[in-house]
Amino acid sequence: MTSVILENLKHYINGKFVESSNKEQFAFLNPANNEVLGYIPSGTKEDVEKAVIAANRAFKYAWSEIPVSKRSDILYDIHRLILKKMNDLAYIETLNTGIPISQTRNQIERAAENFKFFAEMANKALGEAYPLDDKFINYAIRSPIGVAALITPWNTPLMLETWKIAPCLAAGNTCILKPAEWTPMSANKLVLIMEEAGLPDGVFNIVHGIGEISGAALVAHPGVRLVSFTGETTTGMEIMRNGASTLKRYSMELGGKNPAIVFSDADLKKALDAVIFMAYSLNGERCTSNSRVLIEEKIYDQFVEMLFERVRKIKIGDPFNEQTELGPLVRPEHWERVKKYIDIGIKEGAKLIYGGDRPNNFKQGNYLMPTLFKDGETGMTICKEEIFGPVLVTMKFRNEEEAINISNDVIYGLTAYIWTKDIEKANRVARKLECGMIWINSHNVRDLRTPFGGAKYSGIGREGGTFSFDFYTEWKTIHVSLGKHKIPTFGLGE
Ligand code: NAD
Repeated sequence: MTSVILENLKHYINGKFVESSNKEQFAFLNPANNEVLGYIPSGTKEDVEKAVIAANRAFKYAWSEIPVSKRSDILYDIHRLILKKMNDLAYIETLNTGIPISQTRNQIERAAENFKFFAEMANKALGEAYPLDDKFINYAIRSPIGVAALITPWNTPLMLETWKIAPCLAAGNTCILKPAEWTPMSANKLVLIMEEAGLPDGVFNIVHGIGEISGAALVAHPGVRLVSFTGETTTGMEIMRNGASTLKRYSMELGGKNPAIVFSDADLKKALDAVIFMAYSLNGERCTSNSRVLIEEKIYDQFVEMLFERVRKIKIGDPFNEQTELGPLVRPEHWERVKKYIDIGIKEGAKLIYGGDRPNNFKQGNYLMPTLFKDGETGMTICKEEIFGPVLVTMKFRNEEEAINISNDVIYGLTAYIWTKDIEKANRVARKLECGMIWINSHNVRDLRTPFGGAKYSGIGREGGTFSFDFYTEWKTIHVSLGKHKIPTFGLGE
């Protein structure tokens, strides 16, 4: 087992690491053994106040005034430095999340890519011109908005944080990040990279702490104009209520209960690889996971058997072992929550065919066997609620229409995956699915230019490419008179 580093993390406000105003702290843990890795400050309203003042000052006097090309250069440098420190960052991420090191390395690469992508976009962001006649020149520019609160979950911390930080800064805003309380480590390491890249003080700030306290204070603060949130749907609802009286602009990336639909004419070998990967990678703690696999009746038994043969061979173990495919879940509380869903699944009549509990040879840490249920039915809790763990349930369908109905019969609508060689059918089904993102004959492969986000209770708005810029900028339309237009003359009468 990897040795423990005890770290006392601090907030990062106006270019300095600072303690919380109340000096209170709480522990964060190593999921592989639940030993304390370190402590983070329990952020207060006062800490939030200081961060908002710093971010507003930096917005007005530093960041939004810097030439775009210079902003972009700093972001390119951050990209380069993340890649340079890739091994350290991946190590920390695995230590704090329990996600296998072979997978956190990819996430760190993506974190770096986020900065490169939006550094490029900053330079390319165009305005629009509206040629009229000889009376006016009208044009519209994207202007930065101000201070953003970026509130993130624990499942892939640095990747999701940078997915927000990079476009936010590229567009000329400043920000305060509120990392998830269970996984604060990598955010503080990012600060050192930001400093080395020459980011001015106050442009990027971190306030740690409990969501309902420091997160809520950020959302309610009148000095914060934007809230980009990724997390649970119920938290998103609470945030929208809390920010209503200060009219925040929101981006909401929320939960999912995503189907993979496997038709009998699919390439079953490829479908199998993808379904397994999307259910059990990132320890199943993945918003885009295909946690329900809908299988056409004709191949149902065959495909369930194929799944079983692979799931039982998934390598579970020390997340630092390069061969490990499934590591420990993030926290004991989360393990309990996932286990509760498994027990409910059994009680409601789904058939547990593999896993369902702690593996025998792991006495400590939050290890849970890869779990496979068969014969799930619409209405069962495990077929409609997000479990966010390594639990997959198979469901049977007879025809296209039934596959669509089962898929849509949940409150969520984040992603779906369709497996068939009939491309016409695939597109027909895709158009009827109520969700934000669909892959045909593929696992989740992200192109950073495409709109990312969910429908129904899975989110509001889209991020990615120009969609991120739409969120992080305000269109400002400038109408320039060429002096020839007629102005109404009120008040000239007798
Ligand atoms: P969570 O909602 O419990 O917490 C997310 C963040 O919100 C944390 O930083 C937390 O401290 C903060 N928070 C909690 N209450 C708050 C409040 N009242 N005001 C302000 N901030 C508050 O989510 P989680 O358990 O950390 O993450 C898992 C969830 O995230 C799952 O539902 C998953 O689907 C979702 N997720 C979605 C996406 C996506 O892109 N759609 C990506 C990853 C994770």
